[in-house]
Amino acid sequence: MTADVVIIGGGIVGSSIAYHLVAAGCEDVLVIERETAQGKGSTGKSMGGVRAQFSTPVNIQMSLYSIPFYASFEERLGHPCDYRPQGYLFCATSDKHLSYLRTNQEKQIALGLKNVRMISGDEIRGMFPQLRGDDILGGSFCSTDGFVDPYSAMIGFMTWAADHGAKLWKNTTVSGIAKNGNGFELETSRGKVAAAKVVNAAGAWAASIAKMAGIDLPVEPLRRMLVPTEPFDQFPHTAPMIIDMSNGFHFRPESRGFLLAWNDPEETPGYKTDFEPSFIEKILTRAADRVPVFENLAVNPKRAWAGLYEMTPDHHPILGEAVPGFFCANGFSGHGVMHAPATGKVLSDLILRGKTDLIDAKLLDLARFAEGRTIHESAVL
Ligand SMILES: Cc1cc2nc3c(=O)[nH]c(=O)nc-3n(C[C@H](O)[C@H](O)[C@H](O)COP(=O)(O)OP(=O)(O)OC[C@H]3O[C@@H](n4cnc5c(N)ncnc54)[C@H](O)[C@@H]3O)c2cc1C
Repeated sequence: MTADVVIIGGGIVGSSIAYHLVAAGCEDVLVIERETAQGKGSTGKSMGGVRAQFSTPVNIQMSLYSIPFYASFEERLGHPCDYRPQGYLFCATSDKHLSYLRTNQEKQIALGLKNVRMISGDEIRGMFPQLRGDDILGGSFCSTDGFVDPYSAMIGFMTWAADHGAKLWKNTTVSGIAKNGNGFELETSRGKVAAAKVVNAAGAWAASIAKMAGIDLPVEPLRRMLVPTEPFDQFPHTAPMIIDMSNGFHFRPESRGFLLAWNDPEETPGYKTDFEPSFIEKILTRAADRVPVFENLAVNPKRAWAGLYEMTPDHHPILGEAVPGFFCANGFSGHGVMHAPATGKVLSDLILRGKTDLIDAKLLDLARFAEGRTIHESAVL
């Protein structure tokens, strides 16, 4: 088997890269996924939040491509991604956080984001009287932020790519990568595959794929847990993602209930995907503290789940050619769904043209770690 481009990993990132390559005219694309179905990695575990409210220009630019892409997903791909522009509302309880939001908002507007605005504490209390608002000084709100269905978007990308020439091998594990002339020879559970170019889109497992190619990739798995509630109607279902900046607790409507999230600072790196039952009490305490009616929430621990973030030291992805012909699309640090469209575009540009106009790709290359050019993103949820 041979292919111009082999993409290792059939999650939302690999699928978006496949779509963008095929849409740009490169049809000889093979996606290799070790599971029997797509979405069993982080994509199927995601909260589906999409936002442009970031602090670094490159993350804002990635969102400025991705969110309009999701807004027009169905027109472009003939498949829904269930984009719901209900917004993200950051609530600040300290002057430091408020001025941080203001600085970010100025950057976001300067880069072309239209619908982000600062919002007063009174306005937040007026919009959501169910919040305990005594300590909320103000916040920022962007109405085009919101949610998507990550599984549906992933399937939409892959289906379009497959309908236009790409191949997807499921139930196939990549176990070795060797140089082969100008390209590579991959060892897989279906036999050898020769590829001119290889893309690592293996999510939380990306470091092991990079190692096969002799590359040291600083991407670590970090467990994140989510708790869905039973149906609950004492808080509006039109609500945005609401973030309590005092402790990082955030939540959004999901189906007839809510989806609760909080990143436990005590979590340590590792391939842990079991849900820890003691997390429920920790998160419900924070939930009821910010939203007193959440005292009445019912939660079924069996419906809660855990998944893996793919963390990099500077919380930015690693994109681009690490060694000639071997490309990375890894380390999204909690933002791989919202940045999947831009990642697909950047990777397809870099693979096919050697450059991209969407971002300054050098900012996100692997060499930044060795060369001391890391960029810090503090707006990580
Ligand atoms: C609880 C939780 C909440 C999140 N919330 C959000 C959110 O609100 N917004 C957001 O943007 N992001 C969120 N994320 C992050 C987001 O889900 C990820 O960044 C994104 O899904 C990464 O996509 P991916 O395609 O790179 O990885 P994955 O979906 O993990 O796909 C990688 C694939 O590679 C395959 N693979 C690995 N090794 C091999 C091999 N050797 N051979 C073949 N295949 C292999 C795996 O089976 C897997 O399917 C969240 C993540 C979690 C866990």
